[in-house]
Amino acid sequence: MSQSSDTAEKPLVLVADDDPDHCSLIQDFLEESGFRVVTAPDGKVALELYSKLQPDVVLLDVETPEGLDGFSVCDIIRARETVRESSIFIITESEDDESVERAYTLGATDFIVKPIALPVLAHRIRYALRTCRSLNDLRGLIRAVPDLIFIVNAEGEVEEGLSGPDATHTLQLKALTTASQVNFYPCENDDRARDCIKRALETGKPQVYEHSLEGLDIELETRFVARDKNSVLAIVRDITERKNSEEKIYNLAYYDELTELPNRQLFSQSLERTIQIAQRDDEKFAILFIDLDRFKRINDTLGHSIGDELLRQVARRLEQCTRSGDSVARLDPTDEDGGIKLARLGGDEFVIILYGIDSEDVVATIASRIISVLTPPFSCEGHQFVVTPSIGIALYPQDGQNGEQLLMNADSAMYRAKFSGRNNYKFYSETMRTKSLHRLDLENEIRKAIDDEQFELYYQPKVDAETWELVGAEALLRWFHPVRGEIGPADFIPVAEETGLIVPIGQWVLREACKQVKVWSTSPAGAVPVSVNISPHQFHADSLYEDVLGAASDADIDPRLLELEITESVLLQDLDNTLIALQRLKDAGVSLSVDDFGTGYSSLSYLKRFPIDTIKIDRSFVKDLDTDLDDAAICAAILAMSQQLGLNVVAEGVETEEQLAFLRRHGCNQIQGFLCSKPLSVENFSAMLVKIADAASDPRTEDQATA
Ligand code: C2E
Ligand code: MG
Ligand code: MG
Repeated sequence: MSQSSDTAEKPLVLVADDDPDHCSLIQDFLEESGFRVVTAPDGKVALELYSKLQPDVVLLDVETPEGLDGFSVCDIIRARETVRESSIFIITESEDDESVERAYTLGATDFIVKPIALPVLAHRIRYALRTCRSLNDLRGLIRAVPDLIFIVNAEGEVEEGLSGPDATHTLQLKALTTASQVNFYPCENDDRARDCIKRALETGKPQVYEHSLEGLDIELETRFVARDKNSVLAIVRDITERKNSEEKIYNLAYYDELTELPNRQLFSQSLERTIQIAQRDDEKFAILFIDLDRFKRINDTLGHSIGDELLRQVARRLEQCTRSGDSVARLDPTDEDGGIKLARLGGDEFVIILYGIDSEDVVATIASRIISVLTPPFSCEGHQFVVTPSIGIALYPQDGQNGEQLLMNADSAMYRAKFSGRNNYKFYSETMRTKSLHRLDLENEIRKAIDDEQFELYYQPKVDAETWELVGAEALLRWFHPVRGEIGPADFIPVAEETGLIVPIGQWVLREACKQVKVWSTSPAGAVPVSVNISPHQFHADSLYEDVLGAASDADIDPRLLELEITESVLLQDLDNTLIALQRLKDAGVSLSVDDFGTGYSSLSYLKRFPIDTIKIDRSFVKDLDTDLDDAAICAAILAMSQQLGLNVVAEGVETEEQLAFLRRHGCNQIQGFLCSKPLSVENFSAMLVKIADAASDPRTEDQATA
């Protein structure tokens, strides 16, 4: 049965007194004052009632004729209490010091001297009840808090432990703390902790202090809160988990998950710091920008898991050459800086900082070492690869004053390294010097060449892979310089591309090729479709469509006899406009092919988006078809996929019968290469056409052909 709210709210007082008159006097008074009262004639009954009723207040008369006296009852009650504390008053005859001392020692809340002043008694009981309640609340709170709580003096010595039994549950410190809470907490020997305590006492503001415990994998956070003038509460929390997740978050933000190297973010920060320190100490440093040659090819053709594994292995090898002890340069700007040496910027790009270098020779030595460290073949999932790097080097301070500039210049030096044959390194300063000189006179020469008609077009036949019949020709630009002799397109096209001169050159090529198509279409051998190379700059020039169709109509040829060869890089820029431009050309009848396929970044599935007719497998894959299993696998994969996508495939640079046999076996449609013919001058190409026409009209050769 539940008690009525009236009685439930009234505090219960147990009065133990062997004097029945005195007892009922107190009872009557207290009941009138709003308490419930039970009485006991001796200590024994008092204890029984206490156990049964759990009163809020106990009044114990010390003097009992026999059995337990008030002190003993108080002692027993306190010992039995687990959580809640009742307020216990000891009633004494006298106010002698000894009794008072004893009462408090045994845990009495207060004592009352006879004769009892009844009106005051009610107030004292109420006051004691209030205090007791607050104390109980506080104790409950401390019990509930999972932190360890100590009272620590100004010297950092632990004076008392306040925490409840649950506090150590979240800490791995249980063993230590149960042995001695005082010993485990070492703040008296820790200057940082003592400073915090001092500040907490001086300012009155809580001070937070993080620390770990020697020999234990535990991170703690202690809050020191001033308690009085000379002591603080030390609230100790186990923050190991929080620290661990903070570390995880940090790693995610600043480290590359794949290689576990610092990422671009961390690298940029470290670079800026390195610049500051180099400035302060008047030191030099170098940035090595490393890019793996043709990594994309491996990734695209053999899958990302192999690509990823390769990058991990490359990272490990690069780490080998950046270990401080192993190096000829000092790599750490300063110990306190924790400056990084090696980072992965993304994709197949890595970067290294070499600090405190005395000469460029040192940097060159390390760059060579990086190349040689990467030279032995890598083995991933049963495949063997040779991966060569191209390294661009920028030096601080001469090649850039800030991180961005340094990185950009190292990057552009890296491109130069690639351009000059891959698997080597280039200093930014050197490349820029030679490049600008070289470019200056080449630029002037090209302008002159256009005016003086030093250019000529050669034509390389394309034949059907099975029948060996002529199916078309590629127009290839030749420059016959009056002094330097013949200059190959690889030497001047990139400069023409960079300077924009490729646009007028390209216009000339288009007009010239179209005129030639017209000439041949009236020859006995019949029309020869011609493909023309269009560079990225030219493709993105506004005039392209008019240039192409204008050249065709001026020469009075069918645009269907014209094919444009573009590179993968064209397709990767400005997708929407590229698509529109290609579709317009296609609608006008012009054929489109992707040149040097496999060297760029696009995949076959990517090509599906564009109105492409043909892809040309790059010569570099065809070259080692017989010897390099990977190249063979790549060619076979390109051919298989192209067939599925309905694309025509031309293999470039076919030089041997073995290559031809392989390409035929895998269904390659057309062949271009020295095995069939080198690029020919107009004169020689025309002569060849005459021969073909003659053979076709000569019944004897026809017999031979069918035989
Ligand atoms: P490309 O368009 O891939 O042309 C094929 C290149 O491979 C030509 O080099 C050709 O001579 C060479 N080649 C063909 N078969 C074989 C072979 O069996 N073995 C070997 N070793 N090489 C073979 P070329 O004429 O030096 O042209 C180089 C590049 O210059 C061309 O590569 C093309 O990208 C560019 N180019 C040539 N003419 C023009 C042009 O008129 N305009 C533009 N924008 N670029 C051009
Ligand atoms: Mg081409
Ligand atoms: Mg090509």
